[in-house]
Amino acid sequence: MPPPTISQLIARHAPTEGKQPLSGDVTGICYICALPTEQGQRRPPSDVFTAWAACAQGDVLCPDCAATLNYRDVRMFSWLATEEAFRVNGRGDRDWLWDVLGDPPEPPYGLYISKGGQKQGWISGVRQVATSRATIPVLTDWTDRPVMLRRADWETYAPLVVTLRAKGVSKQALMTGDYTANQWAKAIRDDYADALRQAQQYAGDPRWEIVCYASRKPDDSGDTAEPKPVATGTGGAYRPLGLDLPGR
Ligand SMILES: [Zn+2]
Repeated sequence: MPPPTISQLIARHAPTEGKQPLSGDVTGICYICALPTEQGQRRPPSDVFTAWAACAQGDVLCPDCAATLNYRDVRMFSWLATEEAFRVNGRGDRDWLWDVLGDPPEPPYGLYISKGGQKQGWISGVRQVATSRATIPVLTDWTDRPVMLRRADWETYAPLVVTLRAKGVSKQALMTGDYTANQWAKAIRDDYADALRQAQQYAGDPRWEIVCYASRKPDDSGDTAEPKPVATGTGGAYRPLGLDLPGR
C-alpha cells in the first residue's frame, strides 16, 4: 500500500465543517495531492489562496485536501501529523520540535515547520509523508521542497548546535553564520572558536537551518539535571540566553 498523503493524515483530525463545503460530486484528479477522487469540487481552496506554484496537475479539490486547507492550525503552526494525532507547536505545547527531530515517531508521519504562520507551505510536500525514522522529510514554509534530514545529519549538527547555544550564540546567528566581532572574541577567549567556524561552514544548508530553528534555549530544555545558569552579580556580564530570538 502506498503511504498516505499529508492530507490523508491530517483530514481525520480536522474540523468536519468549513466556510465552504469540504466535499463535492465531481470526479477528477486533485490539484493539491494529485490523487483521483469522485468527491471533488471545482473551486480554489479559498479566495486568498496564493500557493499555486506548489500545486499538482489536476482539476478538482479532494475532500481530504479541502479539510486540511480548511484547518486553520495547519497554516498557523508547525505540526506533527500521525495516524493517531495532530500535534501543533503552540498554545501551551511548544518546544517539542527538537525532540521529534532527534527521535521521530514510527512512520507514517508528516512534519511541518512554519516560521511565519501565513503560508500553506506543506503543499509542495503533500506526497512526502515519512516512511522511515532514518530520514525525515521536513516540510517548511521557507523552502520550495521538503528538506530531507537524515539521521547522520542530525548526529552531525545537533551536538554542535547544543554546544554553541549553551555558549549564548543565538539561533539567528547560527542559521545565518553572521557573527559579530564580539562573538568571535568571546569564542576565542572561551575556547570554542573552532566550533563557531564549523557552524559557519554549515550556514546556508537547509538541514542545518532546520536543526538550528528547532533548538531550544539552553535553560529550558527540561531534560537536564544541570542547574540553570543564574546571575552571579559579576557586574552585569550575565545576560539570559536567547532573549533576542526571532519567532519565539
Ligand atoms: Zn487532494
